[in-house]
Amino acid sequence: MSDSPALLAVFGNPIAHSLSPLIHEFFAKQEGRQIIYEKRLVAGEFATSAAELFAHGGIGCNITVPCKVAAFHWVQEKTERALIAQAVNTIKKVQKEDGSVHYLGDNTDGLGLFTDLQRLNCPLNNARVLVLGAGGATRGIVPVLLHLGQVQDLTIVNRTVSKAEEIMIYTQQFAMAHPDALTIRPIEAHDYASLEVQEVNENNHYDVIINATSLSMRGELPALKDDYFRHAKFAYDLFYTPQGQTVFTEHARQLGIDASFDGLGMLVGQAALAYELWFGVRPELAPTIEYMRKVLAERV
Ligand code: NDP
Repeated sequence: MSDSPALLAVFGNPIAHSLSPLIHEFFAKQEGRQIIYEKRLVAGEFATSAAELFAHGGIGCNITVPCKVAAFHWVQEKTERALIAQAVNTIKKVQKEDGSVHYLGDNTDGLGLFTDLQRLNCPLNNARVLVLGAGGATRGIVPVLLHLGQVQDLTIVNRTVSKAEEIMIYTQQFAMAHPDALTIRPIEAHDYASLEVQEVNENNHYDVIINATSLSMRGELPALKDDYFRHAKFAYDLFYTPQGQTVFTEHARQLGIDASFDGLGMLVGQAALAYELWFGVRPELAPTIEYMRKVLAERV
């Protein structure tokens, strides 16, 4: 392990709220590694900000909203996960034997969610899964749920149905072209109105409901009728709070889903995978989640 601290950063706009420095500093402390992890606001082009970090010795970075697509186009090499998601949330500077340098882009969001769902004993295998929202996060999580989650089928519902359809079509095309990387499974796209008119019963329901909309940030619920919650076994909100409950998970609990969780474990999970890409060591999730809950609670 080198004595001089490794320079890392997270890029986004806004960025002040980011918890990534605290998570990575905790990982590094557990391992006795020296790191400097900065928050960097991207006010102009992502490429300019990234080039500056790497010109000053940066070894890697994370990328958050709204720069994940720009980062995808900036890197020279992409992991399969990044190619499927069409977005990059982690970059590693790679020094080749001939002295040349290139940048590897990864997307750890989907696997971060998957590892958290495993930790929480989510009954994904052969489950019917409903994903609410079709933004950047959904792009990363849908392929992982289909491929590693071995779900029976997956439905994306979104206010703007064209975005859900776009993810569905791209995912199906990718699976057809790369069957080793992405298993072909039934996938549907709907708006909320078309789910509203469906009867929900023993034969027509979802087992797992994942909220990947940004509604919980504003304390709002998606327009999903209660019957869907009453028939589901597991609910997960990508948004997180100090208490571990969001307006969505509380609603799900009230309607009988005891297994309702927020997304802090996903946040820590995606960070752990980024750390592994940079340093070759996968940090432990449980102590980091516990630490971050305390940090969040102290901030309130
Ligand atoms: P985006 O802004 O890309 O997408 C937001 C989604 O929410 C879209 O599908 C949008 O629908 C939907 N939405 C927003 N307002 C409404 C509304 N009034 N009614 C119905 N739908 C609405 O965000 P991300 O995908 O990046 O993030 C989504 C959530 O996931 C956020 O809460 C974010 O904090 C969280 N997240 C958590 C992570 C973690 O590690 N725990 C990682 C990444 C994200 P439309 O397309 O119609 O606008």
